[in-house]
Amino acid sequence: MSDSNVNVLVVSAHAADFVWRAGGTMAKYIKKGANVSLVILSYGVRGESNDLWKEDGQTAENVKKHRAGEVDKALDILGIKQVEFWDLDDYNMEFSADCMERMVKKIREVKPQHIITHGPKDAFNPDHERVAKFVWEASVLSISNGVKLKGYPTAKQARIFGFEPHQTEVSGFNPDVIIDITETYPQKEAAMKCFAAQKHLIEYYMDRAKMRGNHARRCSGNSEYKYAETFSRLYPYVGDALV
Ligand SMILES: [Zn+2]
Repeated sequence: MSDSNVNVLVVSAHAADFVWRAGGTMAKYIKKGANVSLVILSYGVRGESNDLWKEDGQTAENVKKHRAGEVDKALDILGIKQVEFWDLDDYNMEFSADCMERMVKKIREVKPQHIITHGPKDAFNPDHERVAKFVWEASVLSISNGVKLKGYPTAKQARIFGFEPHQTEVSGFNPDVIIDITETYPQKEAAMKCFAAQKHLIEYYMDRAKMRGNHARRCSGNSEYKYAETFSRLYPYVGDALV
């Protein structure tokens, strides 16, 4: 079955957020033929490259180069081809009016049915919360007929899904949606291993995928689910049947 009419837009605050939190889901959608577009807002030079900064004489330029190399490898493994690097400064990330217009245009260009980005609460990362608000605001503007942008007609309301934050309970996260990633988990694990700058997270997110796989089995009764990713959803499910 091909999902060539399905458009997904993923917005990642830093270089690797999308891999830890949605890499398996993205690879799964790509495998099914969906159009998956990714925006990486920053390389996470200041906030998410701690291991690299332990090296003597380290520079921001060098950290950025290193992180770009890691991301390229991960993109390749996950099969992600439509990607933009906006190269914003991080910690703290700021969004100008131009930046907002750029995101509105991106949403109108991709026409996503699904937007995946950071959820509204992340107790350990102010950038993630800022990005959540930024993307939500851009999605509101993208569906407003009065927001005229030449060549970018008004979009339809996308469903917005939030990544699972790093420490879920502290961030008040509830897994509204659990996606089975058993088929693409080997890709996710290989992509995670590209990020030497955040070695401490690799094992953590391997364990997390396994634990969420357990929850997927318990909640569905499907014993074939081994690994999973979870998301919050900003709007309720709307349909003509209970699913
Ligand atoms: Zn991040």
